[in-house]
Amino acid sequence: MASVDLTQRKRLSDLNPIWIGAGGPGIIRTLDGASVPRREGVGVMFDCPCGCESPCYVPFSNPLDGDGPIQPEKATWSRMGDTFETLTLAPSIRRVGGCAWHGFIQDGGIVNAG
Ligand SMILES: [Zn+2]
Repeated sequence: MASVDLTQRKRLSDLNPIWIGAGGPGIIRTLDGASVPRREGVGVMFDCPCGCESPCYVPFSNPLDGDGPIQPEKATWSRMGDTFETLTLAPSIRRVGGCAWHGFIQDGGIVNAG
């Protein structure tokens, strides 16, 4: 008889997650050549939970470095938690094009939307 082991639920930490940084020494804006300050944790990138192996990038409305979103004019996600094991993002994530995966990241776990 089959049983469901909830501890086998997919974790963000299984999907090769990395925090995304931006700017820093040597980085200039193409518009006017101004230097771009270094930012840390402006978003997270991880392998698509569906297994299609394309990367998912999710920019935060509240980056890890405490400053505002790096591209405020674009969609951002609200972040709670500052480790891959505790990360919760809102609202849900829906991939546009490709596999069209739709789901949530809650407490570092992957939850597929119905
Ligand atoms: Zn996918």
